[in-house]
Amino acid sequence: MQLTVLGCHSPFPAPDGATPGYLITTKSGKQVLLDCGSGVLSQLIKYIPPYDLDMVILSHLHHDHIADFFVLQYAIMVAIKQGWRTKPLQIYAPIKPLKWSKNLYYGDYIDVRELNEKTWTELDEDTTVRSYRTNHSVPCYALEIQDQKHIILYGADSGYETNWNQMKKNPDVFICEATYLESDMPANAKDHLSTCQAGEIANLLNAKHLVVTHLFPFYDRDDLLHEVMSTYKGFCDLAQTGFILNLK
Ligand SMILES: [Zn+2]
Repeated sequence: MQLTVLGCHSPFPAPDGATPGYLITTKSGKQVLLDCGSGVLSQLIKYIPPYDLDMVILSHLHHDHIADFFVLQYAIMVAIKQGWRTKPLQIYAPIKPLKWSKNLYYGDYIDVRELNEKTWTELDEDTTVRSYRTNHSVPCYALEIQDQKHIILYGADSGYETNWNQMKKNPDVFICEATYLESDMPANAKDHLSTCQAGEIANLLNAKHLVVTHLFPFYDRDDLLHEVMSTYKGFCDLAQTGFILNLK
């Protein structure tokens, strides 16, 4: 299984960057996109044509995670009309907020399925994905991708009060948001994590490799890493566009 970071910024992309998007390539070659933020398609095309995706899973319906999905609809439509692709694109997404989920449908080109706390599906015969509700201002789901050897846990957008204990311990990779440096953390922030909180949660989950993401474009990367490592006891990388992890 391979993880390619296509976008790791929020709430807007850095130069040549993108807001959240992570490409999972399974051992059998299935291409699954987790989130499709602003700028993600211009990164994805460095690796595969966008219409070659097998599945898209949108953790929640905030614009920094779905902005490019509406352009991806066009890529799928054109590919089907031209005969480069035969099947609609299968996607999983929450149904709320309704005003956004209704826009995910696009004729016969997109096959929309509901993402909720009971979602469990196969990406291929060796790889599954399941979801866990997180604490966020709209329904949002962490995604656990597991094959016979490895687990990648994507925490999506998540407040500290998320029920982390429902998730499997010892993920090989934990992709965790760190929206705020400690000094910028609002007093009543419930929807997002700080750097130090991301480190604490990675400890709780006993993550083997923490990849910190959802980064404010103007933050200093050394400051971010320094704060995460003040609480985290393991191996950590800051996400960046083009970061690839090959799990063998
Ligand atoms: Zn976000």
